[in-house]
Amino acid sequence: MRVIVALSGGKASAYCAEYAFRNYEKKDIVLYFNDTKWEHPDLYRFIEDLAKYYDHPITYDSDGRSPDDLFFKQKALANNRMPFCSRILKADRLQNYYVDGDIILFGIGLDEMHRASRLVSAYQRVAVKRKAYPKIKFPLIETNTTSTDIDQWLESINIIQPYLYTLGFTHNNCSGGCVRAGKRQWIKLLETLPDVYRQREEIEEKVREYLRKDVHILKDTTLRNLRLKIESQIKIIFDDDTENISTECIGICNTTN
Ligand code: SF4
Repeated sequence: MRVIVALSGGKASAYCAEYAFRNYEKKDIVLYFNDTKWEHPDLYRFIEDLAKYYDHPITYDSDGRSPDDLFFKQKALANNRMPFCSRILKADRLQNYYVDGDIILFGIGLDEMHRASRLVSAYQRVAVKRKAYPKIKFPLIETNTTSTDIDQWLESINIIQPYLYTLGFTHNNCSGGCVRAGKRQWIKLLETLPDVYRQREEIEEKVREYLRKDVHILKDTTLRNLRLKIESQIKIIFDDDTENISTECIGICNTTN
C-alpha cells in the first residue's frame, strides 16, 4: 500500500503532503507530480522545497509531452469545454500509476465538495475497469482546513508560496496560461507574465494555421485578438459563464475537473 499525494503545484495539494507525513509511514508516501512542461519555474522550486522539508523525493511523472504537443496530435485546441490536456497529461497517468489498495490524497478544499464527489465517481469507474481499487481521501475536507490555515502552515515551515499566487492567480497550473482560464485570467497573464501570454498566443496561431480552422482557446476570440483589443484599449466583453474557472488542475478524468 502506498500513500500517493497528488501534487498539482498548488498550495492545497501541498498541504496533503503534511497530512500524509503526519498520518502515515514515510516509506509508504509518494509525492507524485505530473509535469505538463508548461509550468512556471517557481512551481519546481516550490515542490522541491517541500521535498527538502520532508527529506523525501518528488516522483515526476510525464511522457515528455506538453499541452501544445497534444494539440497537434489530437488535431484540436484544448479549451474549457474540452480540457483533454488535463486528462491525458494528468488524469490518465495517475489512474495508470496507482495500484490496488493505494491511498490517493487530493487537495480539494472545503468549498469544492462537488469536485470531491466527481472525483470519487471518476475513480470508481476507473477502479472497476482496471480491477484496482484505490482509497480516495480529501485531507482538507476531513480536517476542516481552510486556505488561511494552509498559508499559516507554509509560513510556519518557511516555504514561500508559489510566485503565481503572489501575482494574484488563484492556482499554480501551467504558468497561469491554462486553456480553461477565462478572459480575466488571460488579461492578468498579459499584465504579469507577458512572455507566457505570447507563447500561448503563438501556439494558438500555429495550431489554427495547422488545422486551417477558426479555433480558439477562449470561447469567442483568439488570444491575439484579445491582446490587440487590450493594447488598443477597446472595451472587453466578458462572458461570465467562462470567467470563473478557478480550480486546481489535478486531472479529474473525462471532460472537466
Ligand atoms: S492547467 Fe490547464 S492547460 Fe495545463 S494541463 Fe491543466 S487544463 Fe491543460
